[in-house]
Amino acid sequence: MSVRTLAKPLTGRVAVVTGASSGIGEAAAEHLAELGARVAVLARRADRLDGLVSRIERNGGTALAVAADVTDTGAVRSAAGRVAAELGAAGLLFNNAGVMLPAPIEELAEDQWRHQIDLNITGLMNVIGAFTPQLVEAAGDQGVADLINTSSIAAQNIFPNFAVYSGTKAYVTHLSRHLRVELGPKNVRVSAIEPGIVGTELQSHVTDDGALRWLEGSKEAMEWLTPEDIARTVGFVATLPPRVNLQQVTVMPTGQPS
Ligand code: NDP
Repeated sequence: MSVRTLAKPLTGRVAVVTGASSGIGEAAAEHLAELGARVAVLARRADRLDGLVSRIERNGGTALAVAADVTDTGAVRSAAGRVAAELGAAGLLFNNAGVMLPAPIEELAEDQWRHQIDLNITGLMNVIGAFTPQLVEAAGDQGVADLINTSSIAAQNIFPNFAVYSGTKAYVTHLSRHLRVELGPKNVRVSAIEPGIVGTELQSHVTDDGALRWLEGSKEAMEWLTPEDIARTVGFVATLPPRVNLQQVTVMPTGQPS
């Protein structure tokens, strides 16, 4: 194996990253490009995506900005068409866009419930629906493809006032386990990444005072993960030999108890 192959093990693969305009998705897009993938970056903020594409291209990579709202089924289908036409069939999908809006259930924050369900579940499914045919095609051509969904430690553990968010992430983890069994025979590996707390814009959307105090306290009590930590995990999952499928990867800050 040449040094170039070792340094850029994703050369020849097309990666799609949703939620790529900030945080984990942005870091993952840059890392996957460094590993040699041609990367399509999806989110709503086109200016942020353009900046990311410029950075990737300055570093010698290839990237395509596709501004789209993943809750809009038609927009995601069009995005998938553009990716196939301009980069080729997607063989790595990091399905990562999401939002976390904790609040006590008795506050009946129904708009926030809906927002989380629409994005974390329906948006995730829109992306799976639009790109699964490409993953299967790429796996047929290249012998392996990856569907990597961003779940959360909230899918496993109990956090008071995070019930709706945690429910959406339990959906993501359980769905991923089922899809692994369905798609594995077609050489599409399916993984759920379950991070503990990562410092990103995610926390800036939280409006509940109790949750904000909890987050502030946890920031003082431990060193949070960085988006790059999760990006490296995604790169690791996608560069394993085709016979190896990490089904669930839980990545915790060393100091986070649960
Ligand atoms: P960020 O808020 O930094 O990133 C969220 C991304 O999702 C942004 O790029 C945002 O871009 C995009 N997004 C939001 N709404 C839409 C939409 N309707 N259509 C398309 N894109 C959208 O947070 P993180 O990077 O932390 O979050 C990434 C994932 O990681 C989420 O699924 C989150 O639940 C999960 N996670 C995060 C943890 C953490 O502690 N940070 C821990 C565990 C899991 P734009 O606004 O431009 O559309």
